[in-house]
Amino acid sequence: MSDTKSETWVTERLHDHYAQSLRADAVLYDSKTDHQRLKVLQNGTFGRILTLDDVVQTTEGDNFIYHEMLTHVPILAHGHAKRVLIIGGGDGGMAREALRHAAVEQVTMVEIDAGVVDFSKEYLPMLSQGAFDDPRLNLVIADGAAFMRDTEDKFDVIIVDSTDPIGPGEVLFSNSFYGHAARALSEDGIIVTQNGVPFMQGDELTGTLRAFQALFTDCSCYLATIPTYAGGPMAFGWGSHSKAAREVSQPVLEARFAAAGLTAEYYTPEVHKAAFALPGYVKKLFP
Ligand code: SAM
Repeated sequence: MSDTKSETWVTERLHDHYAQSLRADAVLYDSKTDHQRLKVLQNGTFGRILTLDDVVQTTEGDNFIYHEMLTHVPILAHGHAKRVLIIGGGDGGMAREALRHAAVEQVTMVEIDAGVVDFSKEYLPMLSQGAFDDPRLNLVIADGAAFMRDTEDKFDVIIVDSTDPIGPGEVLFSNSFYGHAARALSEDGIIVTQNGVPFMQGDELTGTLRAFQALFTDCSCYLATIPTYAGGPMAFGWGSHSKAAREVSQPVLEARFAAAGLTAEYYTPEVHKAAFALPGYVKKLFP
């Protein structure tokens, strides 16, 4: 690993009129894979930061918020999830959290870029924490859209842990992808999606919710604030063939959380329920 000392600031320009800068105390890695440019920066607050095409993907310091909320919320709401599908997730953090549920029998992870997986195993092991060695993990290197189109399997929970809808991630925000996902969900299945920061990327959320309204018995979104996904709370799209899943009570979630023997740094059953309380500007994004 080339380790060049630098005091430079790296600026993420995901949005037209708003950017975030992170001090790169060192650039630990900088290379192109077949799909995207992959960098790892060392930062005094967030530790190691993975960027793809110069957009923050995940950091050592705050990934727990994102990965806990995109796994424990659907899995505990479902109540008996055995088969989980992750689209994207190459850093291994989502698989790490999903596999903490002993009742989950298989996690299929479909990642388009083997370079992200190989790289993350070596340079960001604190994210996967052994997930790649778990016998329940079925790692597939493929385009998630093609996988969803072709799969005949059924999944209880589908987690879309993709990049933003630019480059290879764009297809994962399409109506055809969502339509195939609806077919791949079991009868009381739940799909959750990384849906950007609605204050900055409201159109993305509106597009996903419009597709979900046509495909699922229940659709909504929930929120959590991840410091390095700049611009306000991040939205997670929610679609389910079950009306009941989103209404599961806090006492039931508490019992399930305890039974799973989980500890978490962000997720609690109370936070789970509160995450679905949406402010007016987010509600206005519903079609
Ligand atoms: N937490 C991040 C976020 O919210 O932006 C996402 C992290 S994860 C590293 C995103 C992963 O999605 C990357 O590894 C990328 O290679 C993968 N990806 C992008 N497009 C994909 C596609 N069409 N099929 C499968 N994986 C894809």
